[in-house]
Amino acid sequence: MIPYGRQDITEADIAAVEAVLRSDFLTQGPAVPRFEQAVAAKVGAANGVAVNSATSALHLACRALDLGPGDWLWTSPNTFVASANCARYCGARVDFVDIDLRTYNLSAEALSTKLEQADKTGTLPKIVIPVHFAGQPCDMPAIAALAERYGFKIIEDASHAIGARCDGEPVGNGRHSSITVFSFHPVKLITTGEGGLATTNDPELAERMTRLRSHGITRDPARMQTDPDSPALSPPAEPWYYQQIELGYNYRMTDIQAALGLSQLQRLDDYIARRHALAERYDRLLVDLPVRLPYRDPRHRSALHLYPIQVADHTTRAKTFQALRDADIGVNVHYIPVHTQPDFQRLGFKAGDCPVSEVYYERTISLPLYPAMTEAQQDGIVAALQRIID
Ligand SMILES: *Cc1c(COP(=O)(O)O)cnc(C)c1O
Repeated sequence: MIPYGRQDITEADIAAVEAVLRSDFLTQGPAVPRFEQAVAAKVGAANGVAVNSATSALHLACRALDLGPGDWLWTSPNTFVASANCARYCGARVDFVDIDLRTYNLSAEALSTKLEQADKTGTLPKIVIPVHFAGQPCDMPAIAALAERYGFKIIEDASHAIGARCDGEPVGNGRHSSITVFSFHPVKLITTGEGGLATTNDPELAERMTRLRSHGITRDPARMQTDPDSPALSPPAEPWYYQQIELGYNYRMTDIQAALGLSQLQRLDDYIARRHALAERYDRLLVDLPVRLPYRDPRHRSALHLYPIQVADHTTRAKTFQALRDADIGVNVHYIPVHTQPDFQRLGFKAGDCPVSEVYYERTISLPLYPAMTEAQQDGIVAALQRIID
C-alpha cells in the first residue's frame, strides 16, 4: 500500500537516537534545548518550546494567553480536531469561521464579517487560530490587521507548515502572531515520533509555556513566593528548592525525540523541494482530468504537506476513494469539518454552519505525497485515477 504520507528515516537519524540512548539523559537533557534553538533559528523566532505533541503545544499556547471560561476561541472547521479542542481544555467556548473557496484556509473575509457581528453582541474572540491547511499560509496580513482592530490574539496552527513561507518570510517568525505551533507526528513534514513545538518572540510567553509543560513548577527564585509565617518551608535561594506556582502538566518532549527532530530538521529544505517537484508533476499529469487541483498562492511558498484534489460530488468521491484504496493507494480525506463531529454537535453546532467547508469536504481526496515517493509510484496513482474517473 502506498500511504498518503510517510516518514523518512535515515541511518543518520538512527545514529542520533542511538547516541542519546547511550548518553546520561533520555529526557530533560541537552538535546531538547538544542532542538528548540535549532527550530527557532530555522523559522526566525526568538524562542522555541518543545513538547510531546502539537495538541499539547496548542493547549499551552492557549493557557499562556490566559484563555479561560467565558472566553471565545475561533478557528477553521477545515482542520484536525486539536485546533478546536485546545479551547475546550481551557473551559473556553469555540466557534468556527468558514473557509476560502480557493485556498481552503480560514477566510479573512468571513472572519471580518463574523467579527463585525460579534462586536455588536459583545462576543468577540480572545484568540483566533488560523490553520495553514496543507502547508499553505493563510492570509496573515489581513488576519493580523483584524486582530489589531478587534483586540484578539493569534496562534498559528502550522502543524502542516514548518518550512513554509508567508510573503517571503518563514512561518513561525511571529511577524503576524503571538505563538506558532508545529507538529512532528510521522505524517507531518519532519518527525520526532510524537512531538510538537511552539515558537514565540515574547520571552514571558516562552517562560510560561516552559513552566506549564512541567507541572507549573519554577526553580527561579525571582518567581517564587515566600510564606512569612514559615520561611523555613519556602527557602527560594536553596539549590534543591522549587515551587509549583500554577497548575501545569507533563507535556515534556524526550531527548530521544529531540535528537531525531534535530537530525530530521537538517533535511527539511530538501523534503519541501521534493514535495514541490512531486506536486508540480501531479499538476501536469492531472491537468486533463475532471478534478480540481489544489491552488497555490504565488505570494507564499507552501510546505505542501498535502495534495488535496476535489472531484465532482460526494458520490464520485466515495467511488473514487474506494477504487483507489482497492488499488492499494492509501488516499485519505482532510478534513471532516470539525463542527460536524458528534462531540461538537452536542455543543450546538450543526451541518450548514460552515457551508463552504462542508461542500469542500464532500468532494476532497488527499493523494499520496511524501518525499520518498517515486515518480513510478506517482505515475501508478495517476493511471489509477484516470481509469477510475474518465
Ligand atoms: C496533526 C495536527 C495537529 C495535532 O498534532 P499532534 O502533534 O498529533 O498533536 C493539530 N492541528 C493540525 C492542523 C494537524 O494537522
